[in-house]
Amino acid sequence: MERSPRIGVLALQGAFREHVQVLERLGAEVVEVRLPEELDALDGLVIPGGESTTIMRLARLYGLDEAIRAYQGAIFGTCAGMIVLDRDHLGLADLEVDRNAYGRQVRSFEADVELSGDERPLHGVFIRAPRIRDLGGDLEVLGELDGEPVLVRQGRLLLASFHPELTDDPRVHQLFLDMVREEQHVRA
Ligand code: GLN
Repeated sequence: MERSPRIGVLALQGAFREHVQVLERLGAEVVEVRLPEELDALDGLVIPGGESTTIMRLARLYGLDEAIRAYQGAIFGTCAGMIVLDRDHLGLADLEVDRNAYGRQVRSFEADVELSGDERPLHGVFIRAPRIRDLGGDLEVLGELDGEPVLVRQGRLLLASFHPELTDDPRVHQLFLDMVREEQHVRA
């Protein structure tokens, strides 16, 4: 039997505990990450939602910005985590976003996301969510809200502008764990 994937959740600031719970429920071994050397033993990394400016500031302080840039495994960024991975921040994901761009009245809302290849929509919680402005050619759109991308994949990177860790539906985390498995096989 294959061992459980070992997933790190960046625990500098924001909604990291909820990710830990979902991933554990799906059978992963989960560790909270606060130091660069903790990335070494991981099969995958989650960058949670929160405040991207704070997450970036703390990551720089601890040298985690360079460590995450150098990290070769699968990465899942949600909301602020998506911002941290974009062209203007860590530069790993080939996309640009507008922060807090869903307008003042609808800063936070819940809505059904249409998933590609899945008839059942996914309930999405959007909290001062980033809106994808420009998407590189290598990115695959896996989920849309009103025809706009909100869940995208670029090879080993998975990015959601909403918070899949705040609902009971584990499909996005399961997809990430499937990607982690694929990456393990590619790298083995
Ligand atoms: N608005 C936050 C930012 O700009 C993201 C919000 C979130 O992660 N829920 O970083």
